[in-house]
Amino acid sequence: MIPFVDLKAQHAGVRTEINDAIQRVLDSCHFTLGPEVTAFETEFASYCQAQEGVAVNTGTSALHLALLAAGVGPGDEVITVPFTFVATVSAIQYTGATPVFVDIDPRTFTMDPTQIRAAIGPRTKAIVPVHLYGQPADMDPILAIARERGLVVIEDAAQAHGAEYKGRRAGSMGDMGCFSFYPGKNLGACGEGGMIVTSNPQFARTMRMLRDWGAEKKYHHVLKGYNYRMEAIQGAVLRVKLRHLERWTEARRAAAKRYDRLLAESGVSTPVAMPYARHVYHVYAIRTAHRQVWQETLEAKGVQTGIHYPFPVHLLPAFGDLGYAAGRFPHSERAASEVLSLPMFPELTEAQSAQVSEAVRSLAATSDLCAAGA
Ligand SMILES: *Cc1c(COP(=O)(O)O)cnc(C)c1O
Repeated sequence: MIPFVDLKAQHAGVRTEINDAIQRVLDSCHFTLGPEVTAFETEFASYCQAQEGVAVNTGTSALHLALLAAGVGPGDEVITVPFTFVATVSAIQYTGATPVFVDIDPRTFTMDPTQIRAAIGPRTKAIVPVHLYGQPADMDPILAIARERGLVVIEDAAQAHGAEYKGRRAGSMGDMGCFSFYPGKNLGACGEGGMIVTSNPQFARTMRMLRDWGAEKKYHHVLKGYNYRMEAIQGAVLRVKLRHLERWTEARRAAAKRYDRLLAESGVSTPVAMPYARHVYHVYAIRTAHRQVWQETLEAKGVQTGIHYPFPVHLLPAFGDLGYAAGRFPHSERAASEVLSLPMFPELTEAQSAQVSEAVRSLAATSDLCAAGA
């Protein structure tokens, strides 16, 4: 079976370094925040071309704190997309604000900037574009509208470590950029983790307090805060893995290029990498109108796939209270019914790429026959 992601393959290559890093933390008995986390904040912020990093326990917490630092609260509105992981939307709701959706550009699966203006109202405070699958949203028009209307831009870069837009790193373009280090992400902890990067010292200071009970110093609680601290073991592990991230990213990009080449002229709709982007392929999603059959057939042929995501957020039962009907965001709805994520991880071999592509090509050939016969 070719797995959808292969965390064991990655771990095998860094096992000794990771063990040493964890041992260092155990011996120090400094288990939460501390020097390893501070060093990781500096190193990851620098990797993202940002001034500061604020490490937290999850990517969801990163989004929550960025929104709070931006002053988002009850009665406010925040513009984002429905074609994302639920965390983007839930984090907005954690603050008491209301998520307001705009549709995606179907070529890139990211926010369509031409729809933003119509969604802005008197209560709009912020825009949260999502760099879905590892390709940055079209940031220049988004930033221009935000500047014109005095809105804060928070990038959901949970899938986009090292991605670039016109040479600028994901997370560094908006006022704040939020990352997840969930194990399956391009940079993954041995557990949970997240970080906000920013070049605004005021936002950074606020978020440092908020993640640690709102305290300016021990027991001096100046804000109502949270326990969102990063564990020292995760900081130490992530420092090790960050040193390998560029190599892993280039391996993902090479694997994507192989798929592009092997699936060319097969009729399969492959990802569109925009000229402005360095796409880091957290996900390599093809599109098919026959997804269920394709997924089952691939599974039977030893190819595991994923779906990111089968439902747009506005059609999930948990978000019914937002009041959006089916048909409201056609590009998101269609993408949710058609996308199929092929195996994608840095260690994916040429033989594996070839086997996956061959299976997909033969499905495309037979699906075309079915369509022609129908
Ligand atoms: C993973 C993810 C998150 C949430 O990160 P966690 O670390 O799992 O809390 C948020 N947004 C997107 C787009 C994600 O992929």
